[in-house]
Amino acid sequence: MNSLHWYQKPLRMVQSVLREPDIRNYRADEVVRYLQTIGANCMIVNGGGVIDYFPNKTHLARINQFLGGQDWLAELIDACHAADIKVIARLDFRGVEPERYEQQPDWFAQDVKGDPHVLWKFIRRPCYTGEYANGHAVDYLRQFMSRYAVDGIWQNCLNFGIGPCYCQSCRTLYRQETGHEIPETDDYTSPVFAEYRAWKAGHADRHMQRMRSTVKNFGEDKAYCAEIFGMFHVGNAVQTGIDLYNARDYFDFLLSPAFQDGSAHPGRKYDHLNAPASTIRFLKALDPAKQAIVLYGNNGTKWRYIKAPSTETRIWLWQTLSVGGGMWNCMFNGQHPGATEDTRNAMIEQPAYQYSLLHEDLLRNQQPVTDTAIFYSKPSRDANGHDREELDQYGTMISGVERMLTDCHIQYSFITDLDLTPEKLMTLKTLIMPNTTHLSDEQITIIRDYVRRGGGLVATYQTSLFDEQGARRPDFGLSDLFGASWTGMWRDTGSDCYQLVRQPGHPVLADMDIDHTRVIMNEDRTLLVRYSGQSDQEVICTYIPQIYNQPPEFAWTDQLETEFPTIIAREYGQGRVIYFANQTDRSCYTNGHEDFIQTLENAVRWTAGQPLSVSTNAPESVQVALTRDAADSDSLILSLVNMTGSTRRPMRQLVSVRDLEITIQLDAGTQLAGSDWLRCEHGGSVVCKGEQQQIDIRIDQLDEFAAVHLRLEDDHEN
Ligand SMILES: [Zn+2]
Repeated sequence: MNSLHWYQKPLRMVQSVLREPDIRNYRADEVVRYLQTIGANCMIVNGGGVIDYFPNKTHLARINQFLGGQDWLAELIDACHAADIKVIARLDFRGVEPERYEQQPDWFAQDVKGDPHVLWKFIRRPCYTGEYANGHAVDYLRQFMSRYAVDGIWQNCLNFGIGPCYCQSCRTLYRQETGHEIPETDDYTSPVFAEYRAWKAGHADRHMQRMRSTVKNFGEDKAYCAEIFGMFHVGNAVQTGIDLYNARDYFDFLLSPAFQDGSAHPGRKYDHLNAPASTIRFLKALDPAKQAIVLYGNNGTKWRYIKAPSTETRIWLWQTLSVGGGMWNCMFNGQHPGATEDTRNAMIEQPAYQYSLLHEDLLRNQQPVTDTAIFYSKPSRDANGHDREELDQYGTMISGVERMLTDCHIQYSFITDLDLTPEKLMTLKTLIMPNTTHLSDEQITIIRDYVRRGGGLVATYQTSLFDEQGARRPDFGLSDLFGASWTGMWRDTGSDCYQLVRQPGHPVLADMDIDHTRVIMNEDRTLLVRYSGQSDQEVICTYIPQIYNQPPEFAWTDQLETEFPTIIAREYGQGRVIYFANQTDRSCYTNGHEDFIQTLENAVRWTAGQPLSVSTNAPESVQVALTRDAADSDSLILSLVNMTGSTRRPMRQLVSVRDLEITIQLDAGTQLAGSDWLRCEHGGSVVCKGEQQQIDIRIDQLDEFAAVHLRLEDDHEN
């Protein structure tokens, strides 16, 4: 591992977001002692921007009033480096207060009337083309790195450029580069601004490129990374022109905020318990060669003086590690987590950070094993996603699919529209496309060929109804695979709606006690489609018009049968396809009824057409994750995270689970060469039945987290 840069190894980070007085009596030795005790290998601290934590000599400096003559930052860097701990400085060019703005108003963003863009009532924002965030920021960065031997730069609040900017720089550049004037209507998300949004995204890219290359001028081992919101934050991505897709190109490691407190999600108090593992899976899909990190800490950005709920914090960390992720504890007050108002969680990272430290070499390259993958399409997200879940038609679909996959212990990752290739698809048993409305002709051809050659496909609702630019096709681009044509009509099936069972013996309706029902649940929305295939045996369920529930005497119909399928199951070439004309994926999230979860699970298993990698008697409340080393396919890690306990969020207690059995299906021609428990809280065993090509693992008792490393080899007898 010596030829690697430090940021290409597992990262265990601690950030102290310092308030202005926190540098008084700064104790670098105590900070380092804390980092060593928990097993951290990187510290992130304030450099400057909003407030400068060093004697800044650049124009528009705003030096920390408590700085005095000390150079606490140099002392910290020296002390960390002596302990082999890296230091990243946090720089923040999101804006300045009115006094500095008045010195240089032409450096900042302007609204259509020429007034400043204001944040939190007093911060004046810059834009991506103006002088403040470019010439000034680059000069600042260069001076800072000349003075301090930091190992990297964290650009906080990179997405400062919200909506349109009408400053002189933007107006002039836009005219020069597009030949047009910046639109002056209100709705920034409308097509009127499409060209401007693309133009701004290009300038945001150039801003990142400038910042990155300035950092890299000081050495390739200096890391650059910046704050970007997560995979579901469509509103911010559309407003700023920046999302995680940019991170792939410009950052040395990939990172996404995932606070337990769902403060980034309107209307949701706590984020889903599977959020850390979901985040890591997505980041690894973007670029498997880069370290993927979850940023968490305290209570999001609110109630930041108080520890986050402890039990869920531990779940958060084990979840991250279970899929090979790194951890970034972001705390908002004090010099380190052991020196702040609330130190109750100061040592809570220690078991997880020590686990990562101890098994650093094994964990570095782990990637999720992918029996299936969720296709993530940026144009589909931008067209259908919404930060408010009740209005969303994309992220909630993905969340529903993830809920089913996690609960059913199905091993998965993501494939993004950045790299949908035949080679990637070949590694899957089946592909899931949740309302993937926007697909190019080329992508459709790749998917069709993949299914024809034996791949599985599960698709829902409006998948393939638009091209990648958003133009409506006359019918589904994948109509031949679905066996369905759209009538042009859809129905709100949000309440009192059902599906009529047509093929009770089909595997898609297995384990549903289907002999005892004629109907299963329907919710959300349903497209009215016509069956266009060959055999009526393929129509599994059909749409039933709403049976309004009041008054009960009138809540009936004698016409349950319609010609509109809701679930079609068919063979195509050597592969299998399930098409849901309704939103079963979303309903797994919004409703959660077992009819939705079970049909979606069955669809994945049936289209896979072969046994999946993991089977287990573990309850839904135990997350089972299997990962494989990208550089050594004979090295696997099986991890189990216990989330069994309370019925309420946030969880306060965990209940241990006993006698867990997990069977791992091996590829033909491989067998177990050996195993090591990376973490075993009580007893366990690993047995390989060579003739059955499977490994049987037993865990006597799971309290929080268990993991076993499995080494495979070729089966020489075959
Ligand atoms: Zn501007």
